[in-house]
This record gives sequence, structure tokens and C-alpha cells, in this order.
Amino acid sequence: MHEDFIRQTIALAAQARSDGNEPFGALLVIDGNVVLTATNSVATDRDPTAHAETNLVSAAIRQLSRDQIRRAILYTSCEPCAMCVGKIYWAGIRSLVYALPADELAVFAGPDFLVPCRDLFSRAIEPVKVVGPMLVEEARIVHIGFWPKPVAEGSNSTNNRQHRES
Ligand SMILES: [Zn+2]
Repeated sequence: MHEDFIRQTIALAAQARSDGNEPFGALLVIDGNVVLTATNSVATDRDPTAHAETNLVSAAIRQLSRDQIRRAILYTSCEPCAMCVGKIYWAGIRSLVYALPADELAVFAGPDFLVPCRDLFSRAIEPVKVVGPMLVEEARIVHIGFWPKPVAEGSNSTNNRQHRES
């Protein structure tokens, strides 16, 4: 069950990428049905905060009742960032399933502002159920070749050494 929805988020991530955005997708399930989907739109909306999860939660707040949001499960193609964790929590969503873990994303995109989502949710008063990582191999594919190649560790010291020698 989880896997079907996670595969749909990965398909949304691929759609985001083909739209010219970062490859992330998310959806909201209530009582076993997908009620909302969202993709990352940081490029097309010229909004660096337009992550798949923030877009999804914004739509949920506008379109769903408080009770529906409480019963919803948020599925996302990647572990949510600190910003999205905050928005998910304050919106009232209490169940989350993610595919790619943040430290795997960091291999592609770099480790900027990397906080495991469970660390953040552990500070909350109301518990949030978190499932993941899952289908990591499938979730990784959409990121291959997208991100600028990160500077390999140790290359700085190599450069410095070359610098000193020259
Ligand atoms: Zn985010």
C-alpha cells in the first residue's frame, strides 16, 4: 500500500524534473484515496520555498477540513527538509511516509541545512508517525544527472597542494 503511493510520488518527481523544476513530488492520502498531489515548482514559480510538500500542504489547508487533514497521510519522494517539516506539523498532518532519505539526497545535492526529519518531529508535543526510507533505489533514479556534480571531498586539499607546489 505504502509502496504504490511512494511510486506515485516518484512519478511526480519525474514530472517536476521534466517541467524544469527540482525532482520532488508529494501527495496526500485520506482513507486510502489520493486527494491531492503536488510537485516542486521552485523554478517555474520563481519561489525557492515551493517544495513539493509546501505546495501540497498549502493546497490541503485551502481545500480540506481540519478533520480531513488530521486523518491524512503525506507521502513524499524524499525526506522533508526542516522548512517542510514545520509546515507539515503546523498544518496538523500527523502521518508521513518518505522514500529517499536526506543523507542520500545530500550525495547528489549537497548537505546544506540537512536535519533528519525525525529529529525535528521529536521536538513536537504531538507525535507524528514517520515511515521511511523506502524504495530508495527507485527514488534515487530521478536525481541522477540532475544536480551539479558536488565537489568531491579531498579535492580542495588536492587543489591547495597543487597551488602550493606551483
Ligand atoms: Zn522542503
